[in-house]
Amino acid sequence: MERQMLETQGQQRELTLNDRCDSCGAAARVIATMLNGELLFCGHHGRKVKNVLVPKALHVYDPEGEFNLVQ
Ligand SMILES: [Zn+2]
Repeated sequence: MERQMLETQGQQRELTLNDRCDSCGAAARVIATMLNGELLFCGHHGRKVKNVLVPKALHVYDPEGEFNLVQ
């Protein structure tokens, strides 16, 4: 129940120290919302997977502009 409530508030999602890169465990800088869940990446891994990830993501939360989504 609690988790569902959090997910409905996803638009206001903010990165916290509890959010860790799925690849290396460093502090996450980017959240990519995929069909089957969220993927978190640090700046390094975010850039590394950007070209693969961004076209498939439903939404990318990128407060630091790591993904340079504005082209
Ligand atoms: Zn990483």
